[in-house]
Amino acid sequence: MKKILILPENVANQIAAGEVVQRPASVVKELMENSLDSGASEIRVNIVNAGKTSIQIIDNGHGIEKDQLKLAFIRHATSKLNNADDLFALITMGFRGEALASICAISQVNLKSRTNDSEKTYEISLDENKAGEITNSVGSVGTTITVKNLFYNVPARRQFLKSESIEFRHISESFTRIALANPQIKFTLKHNNKEEAQFEPENLRQRISHVLGKKINENLVPVGESTDIVSIEGFVLRPNNAKKTKGNQYLYVNRRPIKSNYLHKSIIEAFEGLVAPDMHPLYVLKLTVPEDRVDVNVHPSKTEVQFEDERTIYKILCSAVKRSLGIHQIAPPIDFENNLDQHITARSSETLLAPKIKVNSDFNPFNFENHKAKKSTQFFFQSNDKSEQKPIEFSSSWDESEPKSESTKTSFFLPPNYIVTSLKTSLVIINIKRAKNRILFDQLISALKSDNQLSGQSWVFPERIELNSKSNIQIWDMQLKKMGFHWEKEGNDFVFTAGPLFLNQSESISWLETIIQQDPDDEIYNDLALSWLSNSENKYSAMIDSNITDIVDALFQCNNPWTDPHDKPVTRILDSKALSVQFH
Ligand code: ADP
Ligand code: MG
Repeated sequence: MKKILILPENVANQIAAGEVVQRPASVVKELMENSLDSGASEIRVNIVNAGKTSIQIIDNGHGIEKDQLKLAFIRHATSKLNNADDLFALITMGFRGEALASICAISQVNLKSRTNDSEKTYEISLDENKAGEITNSVGSVGTTITVKNLFYNVPARRQFLKSESIEFRHISESFTRIALANPQIKFTLKHNNKEEAQFEPENLRQRISHVLGKKINENLVPVGESTDIVSIEGFVLRPNNAKKTKGNQYLYVNRRPIKSNYLHKSIIEAFEGLVAPDMHPLYVLKLTVPEDRVDVNVHPSKTEVQFEDERTIYKILCSAVKRSLGIHQIAPPIDFENNLDQHITARSSETLLAPKIKVNSDFNPFNFENHKAKKSTQFFFQSNDKSEQKPIEFSSSWDESEPKSESTKTSFFLPPNYIVTSLKTSLVIINIKRAKNRILFDQLISALKSDNQLSGQSWVFPERIELNSKSNIQIWDMQLKKMGFHWEKEGNDFVFTAGPLFLNQSESISWLETIIQQDPDDEIYNDLALSWLSNSENKYSAMIDSNITDIVDALFQCNNPWTDPHDKPVTRILDSKALSVQFH
């Protein structure tokens, strides 16, 4: 039998650290929150190598007394708890006294601090939770914490860190979330000595415009509500600003950024009928809830919360947002006599609907240069075993060397929407519309993923885009160019002069603004292709009307000719066994 051992404290700390510190951005968040708690009016964040080398947070808050310096790093040490009466209220505010201890367990920390009533600055360094001596230092009132070599003693964690640009984007995201909710505070973010963002003290509306972009200002709809259970302050963006991807939803409870699917749904509900179901409205909403009625300790990183009056808050939030949309004449008038779907009318049409992607009728995905037809029969063989409907026994006489024209002999059009083709002992029935969807989708995806650059179209009026601190244009650089985007940098702005051939200018811009907030991944391509497809239905029929043989061939060049991009069946197979059942 194995003996039960008590973990050495430094190991226990490292394990606990894993919960609080997932990546450099978590350190930035915890330290910025400490600076906020210290009453700072200015917080500076200096990052080197996306936080892998160093993270430094400088504040001008009340500082830490000399005799408290070592205590601050002890687990469950918090100054935010004065007596037993405070215990409940303060613990529920998330003062777990864990952040500094956790950060120290996995990095080398230096802390310098001077309190507002002291002439002297003190300094202490810690390594794996072992505190060095407190020494005299120089510096102004406030605290400077420098965290170096994150995860240096947990190589597995360090290896899991993503590329510099991705880690920095997470940092900038954490920074933005905090800066947005605290407009009265001055914030600076520097990366490798370059200033990435600076916000002067201002009001919430100004801060939002500075963070999310100037154009946002006129689209902000104020939301305000004050009840005993919850107070709400902030803005939602007009529905026409909704994006395909998530990322600009900011929710705060008692000044801390939180995630709550539940409350997110409440806001979505308020937007019902105003944005398409797959679009995400933008918002910056700050909730204030009495401290003894919310628990932020659900998760070590304090990003999830539990409310005592969850359902009531849901309803208040939903109706507050709805009312604001109503006051600003964005909500659809509810007319019970008429079909609501047909009666959604906004005063100004541009505020009502999510941007639609229209198809460029000149675009023919079959023209991509990289498109090399593979032998159609090959795909029957490859895909057959993936399909649920695989009752066909392929005879050896159906062989890959068979001429392509074979399918012509055996395919015919079955109005209104089918092609029937035969294999040796089976009938194959193809739904033409879905087959075209599958073909176009695959062609577009493979073009987007290929190494070839797709041709773009120049725009008559270049589009100037102001990119906010969250934008990720460097990571997207290659992909954007490949899709046909072309731009030049002018100061802080980007001037786009061309976009993809398969989207018009406003669609291109809408896509661009959405995707550069994301990490590049396959899903984006899928999203792009799907949305292009859903709006291009009925418009591209001319493209492949010509010849049913082409459709059959092109379909079986797809990796999955059995279902369409929405997973609906494209092909049905009727084998001789199934037919014989019909003749019983
Ligand atoms: P918590 O914030 O939950 O109290 P932390 O581990 O984050 O726990 O911090 C421990 C203590 O260190 C805090 O309670 C506070 O007294 C002190 N502290 C940390 N950072 C600062 C800061 N920037 N300014 C003043 N005091 C700080
Ligand atoms: Mg803290």
